[in-house]
Amino acid sequence: MSVDRREFLGALAVPFLVPGSQTAPLYDLVVKGGHVIDPDQGLSAVRDVAVSGTRIARVAPDIPAPTARRTIGATGLIVTPGLIDVHVHVYDGVASVAAVADDTSLARGVTTVVDAGSAGATTFQGFRKYIIAPSRTRIYAALNISTVGLTMLNELEDLSLVDPKAAVAVVTAHRDSIVAIKVRLGSGLPHGQDLEVLRRARLASDESGVPLMLHIGGSSSPLDEILRVLRRGDMVTHTLREQPNGVIDAEGRVRDAFVAARERGVWMDVAHGSGNFSWATAERAAAQGWWPDTISSDLHARNTAGPVHDLATTLSKFLLLGLSLEEVVARASSGPAKVYRFPTGCGTLREGAEADVAAFRLSSEPFVFADSRKETRTGARGLVPEVTLRAGEPVGHL
Ligand SMILES: [Zn+2]
Repeated sequence: MSVDRREFLGALAVPFLVPGSQTAPLYDLVVKGGHVIDPDQGLSAVRDVAVSGTRIARVAPDIPAPTARRTIGATGLIVTPGLIDVHVHVYDGVASVAAVADDTSLARGVTTVVDAGSAGATTFQGFRKYIIAPSRTRIYAALNISTVGLTMLNELEDLSLVDPKAAVAVVTAHRDSIVAIKVRLGSGLPHGQDLEVLRRARLASDESGVPLMLHIGGSSSPLDEILRVLRRGDMVTHTLREQPNGVIDAEGRVRDAFVAARERGVWMDVAHGSGNFSWATAERAAAQGWWPDTISSDLHARNTAGPVHDLATTLSKFLLLGLSLEEVVARASSGPAKVYRFPTGCGTLREGAEADVAAFRLSSEPFVFADSRKETRTGARGLVPEVTLRAGEPVGHL
């Protein structure tokens, strides 16, 4: 029997494919064999994650490697949606303390960040042009109620800089990037002016339709009075500061004002930072069943070498406090995605979402975790970032 020459050569070129099935691989990439934790879908199991172009194509128990152009082995790793950090400072070169988002967040498994007040009404244009636009990290902003933002750390000292009208105009012009109004009621305010600053921030929030992000700690008015101003959708950040400025009162109990605020729909955030996380506060809150809704780092140039390091380290501290892996991942993915108006598909591995994916090693060496006063606790587990994909593209050398 004679063999047609063309058929024979074709068979040599693709020996394993049945004629008619010579199509391109289905997927561009598959992350294979990891333990996928996607709280948005209630998923915690070994799964493969396939990516086509910039999107999640499929999450399934076994996606054969040959169906993808490229495979990233994730056996033994924890695979999550690209994490969301709702409190960082990344106006590098302009704000007083700032990190470079692509180095300190994206390279460490965090694909979406909210810059917490580095830019104000007069400095936001530059933030958009020189930071948001060229960064691979997906960056949003909580606009500082002070027009100058954090170009100085006493940004609220001069009340003429606290301008709700200017803030509303900038939010209105940049709704795709600004998700909140940030107000820092700390010790830098002129005495007795904190409620007036808060009133102006409230006005800007109400008129622009984005929620407030409230920094607490060191203001002159009682915390209970300040929290009363917050409404559904607003966020309190730095909740786990040492008393008297955090969630725990002088008697060691969770403050009623925090419970009442949460019942009204106010979100509770961590924002660890250099001075805003206390083991004593966190342990007392945990013992009373009080947990934050979102876990954020407050990462900036002066705490990347400790005590914060990165968001994964902050999450690991909550493993030590007693949350499960699923619970900590939720507080840095599906949780923040509920708080702010990010585009759909952020903080999830649902099919069709932008393919932001992170993989972590759950290391079982002893970890010494420091708080903001350098008090330490030793944990038996820590999340260590290994792989990040941003919109389907691997970050760094893989
Ligand atoms: Zn901060």
